[in-house]
Amino acid sequence: MSNIRVCARFRPPSSKERIDHGDGICIRSLDLETFVFKDEKQEEYTFSFDRVFYEGSEQADVFEFLALPIVRDAVNGINGTIITYGQAGAGKTYSMEGPSILDCDEQKKGLLPRVVGELFNAIKISEDASNPKIYMEKVRDLFDLSKDNIQIKENKMQGILLSGVTEISLLDRADALQSLSSRIANRAVGETHILCFSFYNKLLAIVQREFTTDKRVKTGKLILVDLAGSEKIEKTGAEGRILEEAKTINKSLLALGNVINALTCGPPSKANHIPYRDSKLTRLLQDALGGNSQTALLCCCSPSLSNASESLSTLRFGARAK
Ligand code: ADP
Ligand code: MG
Repeated sequence: MSNIRVCARFRPPSSKERIDHGDGICIRSLDLETFVFKDEKQEEYTFSFDRVFYEGSEQADVFEFLALPIVRDAVNGINGTIITYGQAGAGKTYSMEGPSILDCDEQKKGLLPRVVGELFNAIKISEDASNPKIYMEKVRDLFDLSKDNIQIKENKMQGILLSGVTEISLLDRADALQSLSSRIANRAVGETHILCFSFYNKLLAIVQREFTTDKRVKTGKLILVDLAGSEKIEKTGAEGRILEEAKTINKSLLALGNVINALTCGPPSKANHIPYRDSKLTRLLQDALGGNSQTALLCCCSPSLSNASESLSTLRFGARAK
């Protein structure tokens, strides 16, 4: 059995898509798990996922199906990863955060504020967490090697560690959302955005400290990944440094796909090599992907025919992960 749950989500058509293409919608829903996808050449493909979220789907539904079981397990020590994948503009950030983290109505809140709320609920009622606290670390510029001083290390007790990132303790729900939102505000568009929540059972009341010197016992972690856009490089017309970044991003996404594919073939073994070391992204996610850990992949797509080829490649990425 695979611990990877793969879902697809179609956002509503944008006003531009409506104007340009009228009724050019490339999907026909069959049920909650299956739909027919029709591309520009009228070619039809049937896709099945663990769940399909169509245009009218609610943020709460996505959270409950995709994230809630993983969040509950993470508090009990089972590492988890929630990933949004798709071309730029497909709805990754909307799904992950909602229109805004701090001030948006309850209904539109994305996964992140809901996850934070659930973490605090779960930790409060969890018996073995006598002095619970959640920590958050954020990895920026993962793909900009010139700026990057983050090193990924591995330790038997604590698993994958990052040195050079700041860890912040989250005291309560409101405080957590405040600090998330201020940190998220200064991120660059187009980069992969990773948030890692860690749970400890032995705590020190230290607000900022480096991971490397850390002697606390980590009991579980939950990683949320809002990936950089998966669109084909030619389509973006990128040049110079941006092109180099795009190549690195594509390499990471390819490596992520390869890791997920290898995991769906079974647990790591001599015969089944999981290529975690092929990119920083997969190295970083190593102990939260595979093994006992749980992964959810949300493949975000435009419903419009004008984006059919990108959506098709996103859906194929998801289908391969199953
Ligand atoms: P991405 O992060 O994949 O580049 P965004 O999440 O920024 O894309 O979404 C692009 C635009 O579409 C935004 O204006 C966003 O508000 C809107 N959008 C995306 N998904 C939805 C949705 N499910 N419902 C309503 N609007 C959405
Ligand atoms: Mg985004």
